Amino acid sequence: MKDNDITRKIMNYYCLSVCKTMNQVPFSGRHWMEQIVFGTTQYLIDKYWDNSILASKKPIEISRAFLNILDRENLLHAADYRLEESGNGLLVSVPTSKCVYREYSLRAREEGLPLNYCIRLGTLQAILHHVLGENYSSSVEVAENGFCYGKLFPATRPKEEIVTREGHMLKIAGRRAVLFPQETYASLLISIKEHAPHVLEHVLFDAGYQSGLSLAHKVKVLYPEPQECLQLLLEEINNQGLGKAELISVSLPRTRAKIRCYESFQVAVANEYGQLYRTPQVICDLLRGFFAAYLSVIFEKEIICEEMVCQSMGADYCEFLALPLPKKLSGGRKPRGQKIK
Ligand SMILES: [Zn+2]
Repeated sequence: MKDNDITRKIMNYYCLSVCKTMNQVPFSGRHWMEQIVFGTTQYLIDKYWDNSILASKKPIEISRAFLNILDRENLLHAADYRLEESGNGLLVSVPTSKCVYREYSLRAREEGLPLNYCIRLGTLQAILHHVLGENYSSSVEVAENGFCYGKLFPATRPKEEIVTREGHMLKIAGRRAVLFPQETYASLLISIKEHAPHVLEHVLFDAGYQSGLSLAHKVKVLYPEPQECLQLLLEEINNQGLGKAELISVSLPRTRAKIRCYESFQVAVANEYGQLYRTPQVICDLLRGFFAAYLSVIFEKEIICEEMVCQSMGADYCEFLALPLPKKLSGGRKPRGQKIK
């Protein structure tokens, strides 16, 4: 296949367009991008692959055999790819100018598409999964020296998408979820505010805490490493449209974390429907509940979370501080609504 071959151009434009679309899909576009590449590779495997060509089932041999097939079919030159074993994984490097997907890759970065997904590595993940039945993760760096350096390594757990659709049901971490407009949430709040304003803060915190616990337990099974688990949970805050959450700092030994959230949906509700409380105060108690639950599960101890500043009071963002529940407050009681005075 020549560089200016229109088939290659179409292939790159197609990938670019899929990447652009996936970037707009709620709920983890990278996951769906991977699924598309896996699905495409599976068709190739069905047509061209035969396990009997393998002398052994080492990842390096499987990958080399797969590249040789693509070479035989004139898609690439297998000799351009350097493969090297690294522990249980594989290092893959190729001159960037030799990659058939380079136009997609370069333009995706130029256009600021954040998925950073290498299609060639994706196809190798798919063939490794097909032959070995194991899941591999990948990462890639496009270096200044004109080479792409990729890594393939066994995934510790099968990666699952947190938000899924099963038939007509939407699910978050395997539990039924619903998607409704902000107005529904605002109406609930306004109703509670009218009839029982004194419970509002506690109700919101508790709702966040309870629902945050089940999600955090599920994600922790998939991602046991604490920081990775927390990042995933914060991504879910973004995926679900609750705000743009960002981890500022985390200390595992001290079991503390600082989280910022931009454009909290609770601030948006207050801006549109009026303040919930008579005196100005921080208002993102549902998010506070989520974060307290996430960190209680991750740190395996009771964690409370305070909102230190809130965008609804003129700050540039909401900032949350999570820390262990002081012993004098724990005393066997449920801590969820507690605030440190
Ligand atoms: Zn806030």
